[in-house]
Amino acid sequence: MEDSVLIRQLNSVRTNILNTCEHMQIPKEAVCLIAVSKTKPVSMIKEVYQAGIRDFGENKVQELIDKYEQLPKDIRWHLIGHLQTNKVKYVVGKTTLIHGVDSIKLAKEISKEAQKKQIDVDILIQVNIANEETKYGFKEEEVIDRVIEISKMEGIHIKGLMIIAPYVDNSEENRLYFQKMKQLYVDIIQKNIDNVHMEVLSMGMTGDYQVAIEEGASCVRVGTAIFGMRDYANSH
Ligand SMILES: *Cc1c(COP(=O)(O)O)cnc(C)c1O
Repeated sequence: MEDSVLIRQLNSVRTNILNTCEHMQIPKEAVCLIAVSKTKPVSMIKEVYQAGIRDFGENKVQELIDKYEQLPKDIRWHLIGHLQTNKVKYVVGKTTLIHGVDSIKLAKEISKEAQKKQIDVDILIQVNIANEETKYGFKEEEVIDRVIEISKMEGIHIKGLMIIAPYVDNSEENRLYFQKMKQLYVDIIQKNIDNVHMEVLSMGMTGDYQVAIEEGASCVRVGTAIFGMRDYANSH
C-alpha cells in the first residue's frame, strides 16, 4: 500500500532529522521528535502512532485530556503551551513533561498538585530568550535564580529548558537564540544544582528544527511539517 500524505510528511521530517544528526555527528537517539498534534483529530494521531511515534505535543489542557482518554496509554504527552494555574490539577499525572513552566506561581501549583497526588512531575523551564513582549518565559538573566528556587519545591523535577523562538522567514535568524539557550543549559549543568537533572533542551519547530538540532536541541516540536496547516476556524 502506498503511504498517505501524512506518513510521507512524517517520514520526510524524520529523514531531515537523521540527515542533520549525521551531518553534525550527533547520535540519532540524542534527538527526540515530538509530533505537535494540536487541533488535529485523533484519527491522524493514530496513523502517526502506528508509524512508531510515541511523543505528542498539545498546547491546550482540555484537548490534551480528551485525546489522552481516547488514545493508547503508552503515548508520552507533552504539554507545550502556556499553562494556567487553575488548570494544573487536570494535567498533572497525564503528561510526560510540562514544557512551559514560566512563573514561580505555576511551579508552586504544580508542586502542590504533585504532592497531593503523590507523584513526581517533570518540567522544563521556559525562557524568553529573545525578550519578546508577546511571549511567556523567564528572562535569560533570571533563569538560574529561578531554577534554584524551583529546584527546592517538592514533587517537581527540572529536566531542562524550553524556548519558543521568534517566528522568522529565515531559520538562520534564530541560530543565535538557540546558541544562547545551549550556553544557558550548559551553565546550569555546571552549577550542579540539587534535584536538577538537565536532559532536555526543547527547541525548534517546523520552520527551524534543523538549525535547532545543529545548535544542540534534544527535543524538537514539529506540527505543521507533519500534520499540515492548522485550521483554527472551528476551534474558537
Ligand atoms: C504549535 C507549536 C509548535 C509546532 O509548531 P509548527 O510550526 O506547526 O511546527 C511547537 N511548539 C509550540 C510551543 C507550539 O505551540
